[in-house]
Amino acid sequence: LNQAITAREGALTKALTSALGDGRVSEEEALRVLVSQDIWSAAPVVAARVIAPRNTEELATALKTLVASGGAIAVRGGGMSYSGGYLPQDQATTTLDLRKMDRVLKIDAEAMTVSVQAGCTWKALHEALKPLDLRTPFWGPLSGAVATVGGAASQESVLFGAARHGCASRSVLALTVVLADGTILQTAGTGDRAAAPFFSQYGPDLTALFCGDCGAFGVKAEVVLRLIAAPKAAEQVSFALKDRAACVDAVLAIARAGLAADLFAFDAALARAQGRRVSARTAVRDLADVAASGASWRQGVADAARIAIAGRSVIGADAYSLHLTCEGRSKAAVEADLAETRAIVSGAGGREIENSLPRVLAARPFRPLNSVLGAGGERWAPVHGLVSLANAQAACAAVEALFVNRAAAFAAAGVEVGLMLSVVSTHAFLIEAAFTWPGRRMAIHEAVIEPEVLARMPAPRDHPGASALVAEARDAVVETLARFDAAHLQIGRSYPYRSTRDSPSLALLDAIKSALDPNRRMSPGVLGFAA
Ligand SMILES: Cc1cc2nc3c(=O)[nH]c(=O)nc-3n(C[C@H](O)[C@H](O)[C@H](O)COP(=O)(O)OP(=O)(O)OC[C@H]3O[C@@H](n4cnc5c(N)ncnc54)[C@H](O)[C@@H]3O)c2cc1C
Repeated sequence: LNQAITAREGALTKALTSALGDGRVSEEEALRVLVSQDIWSAAPVVAARVIAPRNTEELATALKTLVASGGAIAVRGGGMSYSGGYLPQDQATTTLDLRKMDRVLKIDAEAMTVSVQAGCTWKALHEALKPLDLRTPFWGPLSGAVATVGGAASQESVLFGAARHGCASRSVLALTVVLADGTILQTAGTGDRAAAPFFSQYGPDLTALFCGDCGAFGVKAEVVLRLIAAPKAAEQVSFALKDRAACVDAVLAIARAGLAADLFAFDAALARAQGRRVSARTAVRDLADVAASGASWRQGVADAARIAIAGRSVIGADAYSLHLTCEGRSKAAVEADLAETRAIVSGAGGREIENSLPRVLAARPFRPLNSVLGAGGERWAPVHGLVSLANAQAACAAVEALFVNRAAAFAAAGVEVGLMLSVVSTHAFLIEAAFTWPGRRMAIHEAVIEPEVLARMPAPRDHPGASALVAEARDAVVETLARFDAAHLQIGRSYPYRSTRDSPSLALLDAIKSALDPNRRMSPGVLGFAA
Protein backbone atom coordinates (compact mmCIF):
# COMPACT_ATOMS: atom_id res chain seq x y z
CA LEU A 1 0.00 0.00 0.00
CA ASN A 2 2.82 2.41 0.96
CA GLN A 3 4.49 1.80 -2.40
CA ALA A 4 1.24 2.61 -4.19
CA ILE A 5 0.89 5.87 -2.21
CA THR A 6 4.51 6.82 -2.91
CA ALA A 7 4.03 6.18 -6.64
CA ARG A 8 0.81 8.24 -6.70
CA GLU A 9 2.37 11.15 -4.80
CA GLY A 10 5.46 11.04 -7.04
CA ALA A 11 3.26 11.20 -10.15
CA LEU A 12 1.41 14.20 -8.71
CA THR A 13 4.66 16.05 -8.00
CA LYS A 14 5.71 15.36 -11.60
CA ALA A 15 2.40 16.68 -12.98
CA LEU A 16 2.71 19.84 -10.85
CA THR A 17 6.31 20.42 -11.91
CA SER A 18 5.41 20.10 -15.57
CA ALA A 19 2.40 22.47 -15.16
CA LEU A 20 4.28 25.09 -13.13
CA GLY A 21 7.85 24.89 -14.36
CA ASP A 22 11.12 24.71 -12.50
CA GLY A 23 11.63 25.97 -8.96
CA ARG A 24 7.97 25.99 -7.96
CA VAL A 25 7.47 22.50 -6.51
CA SER A 26 9.72 21.02 -3.84
CA GLU A 27 9.92 17.70 -2.03
CA GLU A 28 13.02 18.79 -0.10
CA GLU A 29 12.87 17.25 3.39
CA ALA A 30 14.06 20.34 5.33
CA LEU A 31 11.47 22.59 3.68
CA ARG A 32 8.64 20.07 4.20
CA VAL A 33 9.58 19.83 7.89
CA LEU A 34 9.76 23.63 8.23
CA VAL A 35 6.28 24.25 6.78
CA SER A 36 4.85 21.50 9.00
CA GLN A 37 5.69 23.41 12.19
CA ASP A 38 4.28 26.58 13.67
CA ILE A 39 5.57 28.59 16.62
CA TRP A 40 3.59 26.39 19.06
CA SER A 41 3.85 22.87 17.68
CA ALA A 42 5.00 20.45 15.01
CA ALA A 43 2.27 18.68 13.01
CA PRO A 44 1.93 14.92 13.56
CA VAL A 45 2.91 14.45 9.88
CA VAL A 46 5.06 16.23 7.32
CA ALA A 47 3.54 17.71 4.12
CA ALA A 48 4.10 15.70 0.95
CA ARG A 49 5.32 18.69 -1.05
CA VAL A 50 5.56 22.47 -1.01
CA ILE A 51 4.44 24.69 -3.89
CA ALA A 52 5.73 28.26 -4.05
CA PRO A 53 3.78 30.11 -6.77
CA ARG A 54 4.97 33.53 -7.99
CA ASN A 55 1.57 34.94 -9.05
CA THR A 56 -2.19 34.36 -9.07
CA GLU A 57 -2.15 32.43 -12.34
CA GLU A 58 0.47 29.98 -11.05
CA LEU A 59 -1.53 29.55 -7.84
CA ALA A 60 -4.68 28.81 -9.88
CA THR A 61 -2.77 26.34 -12.09
CA ALA A 62 -1.44 24.56 -8.98
CA LEU A 63 -4.91 24.21 -7.48
CA LYS A 64 -6.43 23.02 -10.79
CA THR A 65 -3.69 20.38 -11.11
CA LEU A 66 -4.31 19.25 -7.54
CA VAL A 67 -8.10 18.78 -7.95
CA ALA A 68 -7.94 15.23 -9.27
CA SER A 69 -5.66 14.09 -6.43
CA GLY A 70 -8.29 14.78 -3.79
CA GLY A 71 -5.46 15.55 -1.33
CA ALA A 72 -5.65 18.19 1.40
CA ILE A 73 -4.28 21.71 0.88
CA ALA A 74 -2.55 23.79 3.56
CA VAL A 75 -1.86 27.51 3.07
CA ARG A 76 1.13 29.19 4.68
CA GLY A 77 1.92 32.89 4.65
CA GLY A 78 4.82 33.96 6.89
CA GLY A 79 4.15 30.99 9.20
CA MET A 80 4.24 33.21 12.31
CA SER A 81 1.09 31.83 13.95
CA TYR A 82 0.66 29.43 16.84
CA SER A 83 -2.81 27.99 16.41
CA GLY A 84 -2.17 25.17 13.93
CA GLY A 85 -4.00 26.77 10.98
CA TYR A 86 -1.53 25.70 8.27
CA LEU A 87 -0.24 22.45 9.79
CA PRO A 88 -0.81 19.33 7.64
CA GLN A 89 -3.13 16.74 9.17
CA ASP A 90 -2.33 13.91 6.77
CA GLN A 91 0.66 12.87 4.67
CA ALA A 92 -1.00 13.60 1.33
CA THR A 93 -1.16 17.33 2.13
CA THR A 94 0.26 19.86 -0.32
CA THR A 95 1.40 23.10 1.33
CA LEU A 96 1.04 26.30 -0.66
CA ASP A 97 3.87 28.55 0.50
CA LEU A 98 2.93 32.14 -0.39
CA ARG A 99 6.24 33.75 0.58
CA LYS A 100 7.31 34.21 -3.07
CA MET A 101 4.10 36.14 -3.85
CA ASP A 102 5.60 39.08 -2.01
CA ARG A 103 5.21 42.11 -4.29
CA VAL A 104 3.52 45.45 -3.79
CA LEU A 105 1.59 45.53 -7.08
CA LYS A 106 0.22 49.06 -7.28
CA ILE A 107 0.13 52.12 -5.06
CA ASP A 108 -2.65 54.39 -6.32
CA ALA A 109 -2.27 57.66 -4.42
CA GLU A 110 -5.12 59.20 -6.42
CA ALA A 111 -7.63 56.45 -5.60
CA MET A 112 -6.08 55.96 -2.13
CA THR A 113 -5.73 52.19 -2.53
CA VAL A 114 -2.79 49.80 -2.56
CA SER A 115 -2.73 46.29 -4.09
CA VAL A 116 -0.31 43.64 -2.88
CA GLN A 117 0.29 39.97 -3.44
CA ALA A 118 -0.94 38.06 -0.39
CA GLY A 119 2.58 36.99 0.62
CA CYS A 120 3.83 40.59 0.87
CA THR A 121 5.07 41.30 4.39
CA TRP A 122 3.78 44.24 6.43
CA LYS A 123 7.34 45.50 6.57
CA ALA A 124 7.69 45.57 2.77
CA LEU A 125 4.33 47.35 2.46
CA HIS A 126 5.30 49.91 5.14
CA GLU A 127 8.62 50.61 3.42
CA ALA A 128 6.92 51.11 0.04
CA LEU A 129 4.33 53.54 1.46
CA LYS A 130 6.49 55.54 3.88
CA PRO A 131 8.36 57.69 1.32
CA LEU A 132 4.98 58.68 -0.14
CA ASP A 133 3.62 59.79 3.27
CA LEU A 134 0.92 57.14 2.95
CA ARG A 135 -0.15 54.37 5.28
CA THR A 136 -2.80 51.71 5.63
CA PRO A 137 -5.07 52.35 8.68
CA PHE A 138 -4.10 49.05 10.43
CA TRP A 139 -0.46 48.72 9.43
CA GLY A 140 0.76 45.44 10.87
CA PRO A 141 1.41 43.09 13.79
CA LEU A 142 4.71 43.06 15.73
CA SER A 143 5.65 40.04 13.61
CA GLY A 144 5.33 42.11 10.39
CA ALA A 145 8.96 41.59 9.30
CA VAL A 146 7.92 38.03 8.40
CA ALA A 147 4.11 37.88 8.75
CA THR A 148 2.16 38.60 5.56
CA VAL A 149 -0.78 40.79 4.60
CA GLY A 150 -2.64 37.66 3.43
CA GLY A 151 -1.96 35.89 6.75
CA ALA A 152 -3.35 38.82 8.73
CA ALA A 153 -6.42 39.10 6.49
CA SER A 154 -6.95 35.34 6.87
CA GLN A 155 -6.73 35.04 10.63
CA GLU A 156 -7.14 38.67 11.74
CA SER A 157 -4.38 40.57 13.44
CA VAL A 158 -3.96 43.55 15.75
CA LEU A 159 -1.40 46.06 16.95
CA PHE A 160 -0.11 48.99 14.88
CA GLY A 161 -3.09 51.27 14.26
CA ALA A 162 -5.60 48.80 15.73
CA ALA A 163 -6.55 50.89 18.80
CA ARG A 164 -7.94 53.51 16.41
CA HIS A 165 -8.76 51.66 13.18
CA GLY A 166 -9.67 48.11 14.28
CA CYS A 167 -8.10 44.80 13.26
CA ALA A 168 -6.47 43.90 9.93
CA SER A 169 -9.55 43.17 7.82
CA ARG A 170 -11.05 46.60 8.59
CA SER A 171 -8.37 47.98 6.27
CA VAL A 172 -9.02 45.46 3.48
CA LEU A 173 -11.21 46.56 0.54
CA ALA A 174 -11.00 43.59 -1.79
CA LEU A 175 -9.47 40.18 -2.28
CA THR A 176 -8.59 38.01 -5.21
CA VAL A 177 -9.24 34.49 -3.95
CA VAL A 178 -8.36 31.22 -5.66
CA LEU A 179 -10.82 28.48 -4.69
CA ALA A 180 -10.02 24.79 -4.14
CA ASP A 181 -10.77 23.95 -7.80
CA GLY A 182 -8.59 26.77 -9.16
CA THR A 183 -11.43 29.23 -9.86
CA ILE A 184 -10.34 32.87 -9.44
CA LEU A 185 -12.91 34.98 -7.55
CA GLN A 186 -12.96 38.76 -7.02
CA THR A 187 -14.71 39.79 -3.80
CA ALA A 188 -15.35 43.40 -4.85
CA GLY A 189 -15.35 45.52 -7.98
CA THR A 190 -16.54 44.37 -11.36
CA GLY A 191 -14.79 41.02 -11.46
CA ASP A 192 -12.40 42.51 -14.03
CA ARG A 193 -8.96 42.30 -12.45
CA ALA A 194 -7.76 45.31 -14.44
CA ALA A 195 -10.36 47.52 -12.71
CA ALA A 196 -9.23 48.61 -9.24
CA PRO A 197 -11.86 47.87 -6.57
CA PHE A 198 -12.49 50.69 -4.08
CA PHE A 199 -15.65 49.75 -2.19
CA SER A 200 -16.60 46.47 -0.53
CA GLN A 201 -20.04 47.40 0.80
CA TYR A 202 -21.76 47.22 -2.61
CA GLY A 203 -24.36 44.69 -1.47
CA PRO A 204 -23.35 41.87 0.91
CA ASP A 205 -19.66 42.25 1.76
CA LEU A 206 -17.90 39.26 0.19
CA THR A 207 -14.49 40.63 1.21
CA ALA A 208 -15.51 40.26 4.85
CA LEU A 209 -16.72 36.70 4.19
CA PHE A 210 -13.19 35.53 3.35
CA CYS A 211 -11.45 37.56 6.09
CA GLY A 212 -10.83 35.54 9.24
CA ASP A 213 -11.50 32.21 7.45
CA CYS A 214 -7.98 30.98 8.40
CA GLY A 215 -7.70 29.50 4.91
CA ALA A 216 -10.85 27.36 5.12
CA PHE A 217 -12.68 29.06 2.21
CA GLY A 218 -9.91 29.63 -0.32
CA VAL A 219 -6.43 31.04 -0.92
CA LYS A 220 -6.03 34.82 -0.88
CA ALA A 221 -3.82 35.68 -3.84
CA GLU A 222 -4.04 39.48 -3.91
CA VAL A 223 -5.25 42.03 -1.37
CA VAL A 224 -6.40 45.63 -1.95
CA LEU A 225 -6.16 47.85 1.13
CA ARG A 226 -7.31 51.39 1.69
CA LEU A 227 -4.82 54.18 2.24
CA ILE A 228 -4.78 57.13 4.60
CA ALA A 229 -2.37 60.07 4.76
CA ALA A 230 0.45 59.23 7.16
CA PRO A 231 -0.15 61.13 10.41
CA LYS A 232 1.61 64.51 10.38
CA ALA A 233 2.39 64.27 14.10
CA ALA A 234 2.85 61.35 16.51
CA GLU A 235 4.08 61.06 20.10
CA GLN A 236 4.68 58.01 22.27
CA VAL A 237 4.05 58.02 25.99
CA SER A 238 4.49 55.46 28.81
CA PHE A 239 3.08 55.18 32.32
CA ALA A 240 3.47 52.97 35.37
CA LEU A 241 0.40 51.91 37.36
CA LYS A 242 0.30 50.33 40.78
CA ASP A 243 -1.96 47.37 39.96
CA ARG A 244 -3.96 45.62 37.31
CA ALA A 245 -7.31 47.22 38.21
CA ALA A 246 -5.85 50.73 37.88
CA CYS A 247 -4.22 49.85 34.56
CA VAL A 248 -7.43 48.37 33.12
CA ASP A 249 -9.38 51.45 34.27
CA ALA A 250 -6.94 53.71 32.45
CA VAL A 251 -6.92 51.57 29.29
CA LEU A 252 -10.73 51.49 29.19
CA ALA A 253 -11.04 55.26 29.57
CA ILE A 254 -8.41 55.87 26.87
CA ALA A 255 -10.18 53.39 24.54
CA ARG A 256 -13.62 54.90 25.10
CA ALA A 257 -12.26 58.37 24.36
CA GLY A 258 -10.48 57.05 21.22
CA LEU A 259 -7.20 58.69 22.23
CA ALA A 260 -4.62 56.08 21.16
CA ALA A 261 -3.60 54.84 17.70
CA ASP A 262 -1.87 51.83 19.23
CA LEU A 263 -1.72 50.80 22.84
CA PHE A 264 -0.38 47.94 24.93
CA ALA A 265 0.11 47.35 28.63
CA PHE A 266 1.87 44.60 30.47
CA ASP A 267 2.50 43.29 33.93
CA ALA A 268 5.83 43.24 35.79
CA ALA A 269 6.56 39.64 34.72
CA LEU A 270 6.44 40.56 31.03
CA ALA A 271 8.41 43.75 31.69
CA ARG A 272 11.17 41.66 33.32
CA ALA A 273 11.16 39.24 30.37
CA GLN A 274 11.42 42.21 27.99
CA GLY A 275 14.36 43.59 30.02
CA ARG A 276 16.22 40.25 29.75
CA ARG A 277 15.90 40.37 25.96
CA VAL A 278 17.73 43.70 25.70
CA SER A 279 21.37 42.82 25.16
CA ALA A 280 23.97 45.59 25.08
CA ARG A 281 24.15 45.12 21.31
CA THR A 282 20.41 45.45 20.65
CA ALA A 283 20.28 48.44 23.03
CA VAL A 284 22.88 50.24 20.89
CA ARG A 285 20.97 49.33 17.72
CA ASP A 286 17.72 50.59 19.30
CA LEU A 287 19.29 53.92 20.22
CA ALA A 288 20.67 54.30 16.70
CA ASP A 289 17.15 53.73 15.35
CA VAL A 290 15.72 56.35 17.69
CA ALA A 291 18.44 58.85 16.79
CA ALA A 292 17.75 58.31 13.07
CA SER A 293 13.98 58.63 13.41
CA GLY A 294 13.69 62.01 15.20
CA ALA A 295 11.95 64.90 13.46
CA SER A 296 15.44 66.41 13.12
CA TRP A 297 18.82 64.82 13.87
CA ARG A 298 19.09 67.05 16.96
CA GLN A 299 15.72 65.78 18.21
CA GLY A 300 16.69 62.18 17.41
CA VAL A 301 19.98 62.36 19.28
CA ALA A 302 18.30 64.09 22.24
CA ASP A 303 15.63 61.35 22.39
CA ALA A 304 18.26 58.60 22.19
CA ALA A 305 20.32 60.23 24.95
CA ARG A 306 17.25 60.50 27.22
CA ILE A 307 16.41 56.83 26.67
CA ALA A 308 20.03 55.76 27.24
CA ILE A 309 20.13 57.63 30.56
CA ALA A 310 16.84 56.07 31.72
CA GLY A 311 18.23 52.65 30.73
CA ARG A 312 16.25 49.56 31.62
CA SER A 313 15.02 50.84 34.94
CA VAL A 314 12.09 52.84 33.56
CA ILE A 315 9.46 50.21 34.22
CA GLY A 316 10.72 49.54 37.71
CA ALA A 317 8.78 47.44 40.18
CA ASP A 318 5.33 48.90 39.41
CA ALA A 319 2.79 46.23 38.69
CA TYR A 320 1.78 47.39 35.21
CA SER A 321 3.21 49.60 32.51
CA LEU A 322 1.14 51.19 29.76
CA HIS A 323 2.57 52.34 26.42
CA LEU A 324 0.74 54.15 23.64
CA THR A 325 0.97 56.36 20.60
CA CYS A 326 -1.17 59.45 19.98
CA GLU A 327 -1.15 60.55 16.36
CA GLY A 328 -2.99 63.14 14.32
CA ARG A 329 -2.99 65.81 11.67
CA SER A 330 -1.14 68.42 13.75
CA LYS A 331 1.17 68.73 16.75
CA ALA A 332 -1.54 70.69 18.56
CA ALA A 333 -4.11 67.90 18.04
CA VAL A 334 -1.64 65.30 19.35
CA GLU A 335 -0.76 67.52 22.35
CA ALA A 336 -4.47 67.76 23.19
CA ASP A 337 -4.86 63.95 23.03
CA LEU A 338 -1.73 63.51 25.16
CA ALA A 339 -3.02 65.95 27.77
CA GLU A 340 -6.31 64.05 28.04
CA THR A 341 -4.44 60.73 28.23
CA ARG A 342 -2.16 62.02 31.01
CA ALA A 343 -5.18 63.27 32.96
CA ILE A 344 -6.87 59.86 32.67
CA VAL A 345 -3.79 57.96 33.86
CA SER A 346 -3.12 60.39 36.66
CA GLY A 347 -6.76 59.98 37.77
CA ALA A 348 -6.11 56.21 37.94
CA GLY A 349 -3.11 56.84 40.21
CA GLY A 350 -0.45 56.27 37.51
CA ARG A 351 2.78 58.17 36.86
CA GLU A 352 4.53 58.96 33.60
CA ILE A 353 7.77 57.09 32.90
CA GLU A 354 10.40 57.28 30.14
CA ASN A 355 8.80 56.33 26.82
CA SER A 356 11.74 54.13 25.71
CA LEU A 357 9.75 51.10 24.69
CA PRO A 358 7.14 52.67 22.35
CA ARG A 359 9.74 55.16 21.09
CA VAL A 360 12.16 52.37 20.14
CA LEU A 361 9.30 50.47 18.50
CA ALA A 362 8.17 53.53 16.54
CA ALA A 363 11.75 54.03 15.31
CA ARG A 364 11.86 50.48 13.92
CA PRO A 365 8.44 48.82 14.09
CA PHE A 366 9.23 45.61 12.23
CA ARG A 367 12.21 43.99 13.97
CA PRO A 368 13.80 40.60 13.43
CA LEU A 369 11.68 37.99 15.21
CA ASN A 370 14.25 36.89 17.79
CA SER A 371 11.46 36.85 20.37
CA VAL A 372 9.99 33.58 19.05
CA LEU A 373 12.09 32.13 21.88
CA GLY A 374 12.75 33.58 25.35
CA ALA A 375 15.98 35.43 26.10
CA GLY A 376 17.53 32.21 27.50
CA GLY A 377 16.37 30.13 24.52
CA GLU A 378 13.23 28.93 26.34
CA ARG A 379 10.11 28.14 24.35
CA TRP A 380 7.58 30.98 24.06
CA ALA A 381 3.88 31.01 23.15
CA PRO A 382 0.93 33.26 23.89
CA VAL A 383 -2.81 32.65 24.21
CA HIS A 384 -5.43 35.39 24.02
CA GLY A 385 -9.07 36.39 24.04
CA LEU A 386 -11.10 39.50 23.24
CA VAL A 387 -13.86 40.59 25.60
CA SER A 388 -16.33 43.46 25.69
CA LEU A 389 -15.03 46.59 27.43
CA ALA A 390 -17.79 45.97 29.97
CA ASN A 391 -16.21 42.62 30.96
CA ALA A 392 -12.55 43.66 30.89
CA GLN A 393 -11.96 44.05 34.64
CA ALA A 394 -13.69 40.79 35.59
CA ALA A 395 -12.06 38.79 32.79
CA CYS A 396 -8.56 40.05 33.69
CA ALA A 397 -9.15 39.19 37.36
CA ALA A 398 -10.28 35.67 36.42
CA VAL A 399 -7.19 35.08 34.25
CA GLU A 400 -4.87 36.42 36.96
CA ALA A 401 -6.52 34.10 39.52
CA LEU A 402 -5.86 31.16 37.25
CA PHE A 403 -2.12 31.86 37.34
CA VAL A 404 -2.07 32.44 41.11
CA ASN A 405 -3.55 28.94 41.50
CA ARG A 406 -0.83 27.44 39.34
CA ALA A 407 2.09 29.49 40.71
CA ALA A 408 3.73 26.62 42.64
CA ALA A 409 3.47 24.17 39.73
CA PHE A 410 4.80 26.80 37.31
CA ALA A 411 7.77 27.58 39.58
CA ALA A 412 8.62 23.88 39.94
CA ALA A 413 8.62 23.37 36.15
CA GLY A 414 10.36 26.65 35.25
CA VAL A 415 7.25 28.06 33.54
CA GLU A 416 6.84 31.85 33.53
CA VAL A 417 3.74 33.74 32.49
CA GLY A 418 2.94 37.42 31.98
CA LEU A 419 -0.13 39.35 30.85
CA MET A 420 -0.39 41.80 27.96
CA LEU A 421 -3.47 44.00 27.51
CA SER A 422 -4.59 46.01 24.48
CA VAL A 423 -7.70 47.34 22.75
CA VAL A 424 -9.25 47.06 19.31
CA SER A 425 -10.93 50.35 18.38
CA THR A 426 -13.56 51.43 20.94
CA HIS A 427 -15.26 48.07 21.32
CA ALA A 428 -12.95 45.17 22.22
CA PHE A 429 -10.42 44.54 25.00
CA LEU A 430 -7.58 42.09 24.35
CA ILE A 431 -6.09 39.91 27.10
CA GLU A 432 -3.00 37.90 26.13
CA ALA A 433 -1.01 35.59 28.40
CA ALA A 434 2.53 34.83 27.19
CA PHE A 435 4.30 31.73 28.51
CA THR A 436 7.97 30.81 28.48
CA TRP A 437 9.14 27.37 29.56
CA PRO A 438 12.18 25.12 29.26
CA GLY A 439 11.86 23.18 26.04
CA ARG A 440 13.69 22.16 22.92
CA ARG A 441 13.56 24.61 20.01
CA MET A 442 12.31 23.56 16.55
CA ALA A 443 13.42 24.15 12.95
CA ILE A 444 10.96 27.05 12.63
CA HIS A 445 12.63 28.94 15.49
CA GLU A 446 16.06 28.43 13.96
CA ALA A 447 14.79 29.64 10.57
CA VAL A 448 13.47 32.91 12.01
CA ILE A 449 16.01 34.03 14.62
CA GLU A 450 18.99 36.05 13.37
CA PRO A 451 22.00 33.69 13.08
CA GLU A 452 24.27 35.77 15.37
CA VAL A 453 21.54 35.88 18.06
CA LEU A 454 20.85 32.16 17.68
CA ALA A 455 24.56 31.35 18.00
CA ARG A 456 24.67 33.00 21.43
CA MET A 457 21.35 31.58 22.64
CA PRO A 458 21.37 28.63 25.06
CA ALA A 459 19.45 25.56 23.84
CA PRO A 460 17.46 24.30 26.85
CA ARG A 461 16.30 20.70 26.92
CA ASP A 462 12.69 19.70 27.60
CA HIS A 463 11.72 19.91 31.25
CA PRO A 464 9.46 16.98 32.09
CA GLY A 465 5.90 18.18 32.32
CA ALA A 466 6.58 21.86 31.51
CA SER A 467 5.01 21.87 28.04
CA ALA A 468 2.02 19.83 29.27
CA LEU A 469 1.56 22.38 32.05
CA VAL A 470 1.62 25.24 29.52
CA ALA A 471 -0.83 23.39 27.23
CA GLU A 472 -3.21 22.88 30.16
CA ALA A 473 -2.89 26.54 31.21
CA ARG A 474 -3.52 27.75 27.64
CA ASP A 475 -6.74 25.68 27.55
CA ALA A 476 -7.70 27.01 30.99
CA VAL A 477 -7.30 30.62 29.76
CA VAL A 478 -9.59 29.89 26.79
CA GLU A 479 -12.18 28.19 29.06
CA THR A 480 -12.02 31.02 31.57
CA LEU A 481 -12.45 33.69 28.90
CA ALA A 482 -15.39 31.74 27.42
CA ARG A 483 -17.30 32.65 30.60
CA PHE A 484 -17.03 36.25 29.36
CA ASP A 485 -18.18 35.37 25.81
CA ALA A 486 -14.66 35.90 24.49
CA ALA A 487 -13.92 36.14 20.78
CA HIS A 488 -10.56 35.16 19.27
CA LEU A 489 -8.30 36.13 16.41
CA GLN A 490 -6.15 33.40 14.83
CA ILE A 491 -8.76 30.67 15.37
CA GLY A 492 -6.95 28.05 13.27
CA ARG A 493 -7.39 24.66 14.91
CA SER A 494 -6.93 25.99 18.46
CA TYR A 495 -9.77 28.28 19.46
CA PRO A 496 -13.44 27.28 19.68
CA TYR A 497 -15.63 28.65 16.89
CA ARG A 498 -18.44 26.33 15.82
CA SER A 499 -19.49 25.67 19.41
CA THR A 500 -20.07 29.42 19.85
CA ARG A 501 -22.39 29.80 16.79
CA ASP A 502 -26.18 29.34 16.74
CA SER A 503 -27.65 26.64 14.48
CA PRO A 504 -28.90 28.92 11.66
CA SER A 505 -25.39 30.42 11.45
CA LEU A 506 -23.82 26.95 11.44
CA ALA A 507 -26.12 25.85 8.61
CA LEU A 508 -25.16 28.94 6.60
CA LEU A 509 -21.44 28.42 7.27
CA ASP A 510 -21.69 24.77 6.16
CA ALA A 511 -23.54 25.77 2.99
CA ILE A 512 -20.84 28.35 2.20
CA LYS A 513 -18.07 25.82 2.81
CA SER A 514 -19.83 23.27 0.59
CA ALA A 515 -20.21 25.82 -2.21
CA LEU A 516 -16.57 26.92 -2.08
CA ASP A 517 -14.85 23.64 -1.20
CA PRO A 518 -17.28 20.75 -1.76
CA ASN A 519 -14.69 18.03 -1.08
CA ARG A 520 -13.44 19.71 2.14
CA ARG A 521 -9.82 19.82 0.96
CA MET A 522 -8.92 23.39 1.96
CA SER A 523 -7.29 23.51 5.42
CA PRO A 524 -9.36 20.58 6.78
CA GLY A 525 -10.30 20.92 10.46
CA VAL A 526 -9.69 24.69 10.50
CA LEU A 527 -12.57 26.67 12.10
CA GLY A 528 -13.91 23.26 13.15
CA PHE A 529 -15.11 22.24 9.65
CA ALA A 530 -14.86 18.47 9.49
CA ALA A 531 -12.27 17.03 7.13
C1 LIG B 1 7.05 37.28 17.74
C2 LIG B 1 5.61 37.35 17.29
C3 LIG B 1 4.90 38.52 17.44
C4 LIG B 1 3.55 38.57 17.05
N1 LIG B 1 2.88 39.75 17.18
C5 LIG B 1 1.59 39.83 16.82
C6 LIG B 1 0.87 41.05 16.94
O1 LIG B 1 1.42 42.09 17.31
N2 LIG B 1 -0.44 41.04 16.60
C7 LIG B 1 -1.06 39.92 16.13
O2 LIG B 1 -2.25 39.98 15.82
N3 LIG B 1 -0.41 38.76 15.99
C8 LIG B 1 0.89 38.69 16.30
N4 LIG B 1 1.57 37.50 16.12
C9 LIG B 1 0.87 36.34 15.55
C10 LIG B 1 0.99 36.23 13.98
O3 LIG B 1 2.30 36.51 13.59
C11 LIG B 1 0.05 37.15 13.24
O4 LIG B 1 -1.28 36.78 13.51
C12 LIG B 1 0.25 37.21 11.71
O5 LIG B 1 -0.74 38.04 11.16
C13 LIG B 1 0.27 35.88 11.01
O6 LIG B 1 0.58 36.11 9.65
P1 LIG B 1 1.35 35.00 8.79
O7 LIG B 1 1.54 35.54 7.41
O8 LIG B 1 2.56 34.56 9.49
O9 LIG B 1 0.26 33.86 8.76
P2 LIG B 1 0.47 32.27 8.82
O10 LIG B 1 0.93 31.89 10.16
O11 LIG B 1 1.25 31.81 7.66
O12 LIG B 1 -1.03 31.78 8.61
C14 LIG B 1 -2.04 32.10 9.52
C15 LIG B 1 -3.36 31.48 9.06
O13 LIG B 1 -3.83 32.10 7.87
C16 LIG B 1 -3.88 31.17 6.79
N5 LIG B 1 -3.32 31.86 5.62
C17 LIG B 1 -2.12 32.48 5.53
N6 LIG B 1 -2.01 33.08 4.33
C18 LIG B 1 -3.14 32.80 3.65
C19 LIG B 1 -3.63 33.13 2.35
N7 LIG B 1 -2.91 33.87 1.50
N8 LIG B 1 -4.86 32.68 1.97
C20 LIG B 1 -5.60 31.94 2.82
N9 LIG B 1 -5.19 31.59 4.07
C21 LIG B 1 -3.99 32.02 4.47
C22 LIG B 1 -3.08 29.97 7.22
O14 LIG B 1 -3.56 28.78 6.63
C23 LIG B 1 -3.28 30.00 8.74
O15 LIG B 1 -4.52 29.41 9.07
C24 LIG B 1 2.92 37.42 16.50
C25 LIG B 1 3.66 36.24 16.34
C26 LIG B 1 4.99 36.21 16.71
C27 LIG B 1 5.74 34.93 16.49
